[in-house]
Amino acid sequence: MNDTPQAMTIAGTDSSGGAGMTADLNTFSAQGVYGANIVVSVTAQNTCGVQKVQMITPDMIMAQLSAVADDLKIRAVKTGMLGDTATVETVAKAMTKFNFGPLILDPVMVAKGGAQLLTDEAVSAVKTLLMPLVTLVTPNLPEAEVLTHLSIKTTDDIMLAAQQLQTLGAKNVLLKGGHGDAPIVLDYILLADGRHFWLRTKRFNTARTHGTGDTISAAITAQLALGHDLETAIIAAKTYVDATIRDGILVGHRYGPLNHLA
Ligand code: PLP
Repeated sequence: MNDTPQAMTIAGTDSSGGAGMTADLNTFSAQGVYGANIVVSVTAQNTCGVQKVQMITPDMIMAQLSAVADDLKIRAVKTGMLGDTATVETVAKAMTKFNFGPLILDPVMVAKGGAQLLTDEAVSAVKTLLMPLVTLVTPNLPEAEVLTHLSIKTTDDIMLAAQQLQTLGAKNVLLKGGHGDAPIVLDYILLADGRHFWLRTKRFNTARTHGTGDTISAAITAQLALGHDLETAIIAAKTYVDATIRDGILVGHRYGPLNHLA
């Protein structure tokens, strides 16, 4: 019998291999989880930035989802770059049609090099169509500001933003603090039952952070596919991403990749 834990990523590719779908699959493998991959966009990019994006048609995205649903036993799924409204609509439709287990939404909006990976119009579709289906949403601070229209400056603002994300339908929220420059990174977790806590980690200064958001959401997805509860999954994923950042490898000239090889 084959009971290998299986997870799935719905995301864009990164030709340089550091972010997007490649980061997700490397993370799944490093955690001992098999990964299915639904390609929604192809990007020409490297560690310096995104040069070109080609979206995949909704029909082809649905065909990939349907093929996986027909055959594999996916226990948890995450979304990465979704790009446009048609893709968000297709993914939302598939999430109600098929049972892929808990949905982790990484609301990817802008790459570190500045490229927009989600249109403004698609942000509304994420809020209205996807958010109500989400087990966990994992925005960074700028993404949380866009989703809530709040200006987030204090820890009170962070807690309010997380509550608003729950109001939009996300059952649980991980609001990541890595985008500030404070020496201590504060991540805030608000769970479905109202329990909440902070994770405090020392900032590690490095430019090798390409695909950090992809990696933490993929690690949480893998941990859920392994059968862990959400709280355990988030803490294990945070430990994993911190280790891969500290151990970053020398590839390319700017935002180098994390190290999933150790
Ligand atoms: N490219 C793709 C396809 C992604 O999915 C992401 C993040 O989700 C990025 C690029 C951004 O990577 P970063 O901002 O970490 O450089």
